[in-house]
Amino acid sequence: MSDDGEGKKSGGYKFDYATTNRSQCKGPKPCNGTKLVKGTLRLGVVREFRGHPSWIYRHYGCTTKKVFQNMKKSFESAEDIEGFAELTETDQEKVRVAWEKEEVAAEDIPATAVGKFAQWSDYGHPDSEASRS
Ligand SMILES: [Zn+2]
Repeated sequence: MSDDGEGKKSGGYKFDYATTNRSQCKGPKPCNGTKLVKGTLRLGVVREFRGHPSWIYRHYGCTTKKVFQNMKKSFESAEDIEGFAELTETDQEKVRVAWEKEEVAAEDIPATAVGKFAQWSDYGHPDSEASRS
């Protein structure tokens, strides 16, 4: 559609299923560093590392409000994210809903992300954040 020579600029994010057991979640603590089990729905974000773009992954359930807001700056709808069309219908639907609400459903947050040290402020609860600093 937009074929204006910008090319790679349009990407930056993608949804897919972990193809190996080797990637790690780069989402917020305490999930950060936990393994993305093969088959897990995940979100990839491109990061420049020493001049080379590489994909950083996190559980789909570790997609924070901030990430949704950043994606929305570049994309009008979840359908525009790379890989969306390859997701199962069920997953497409939950991503669409989460995109609108800018947060994933509670049931989709992985158990590893809801430990007692979970930083809920990062999931869009600024009220609970201000009191302690
Ligand atoms: Zn995670």
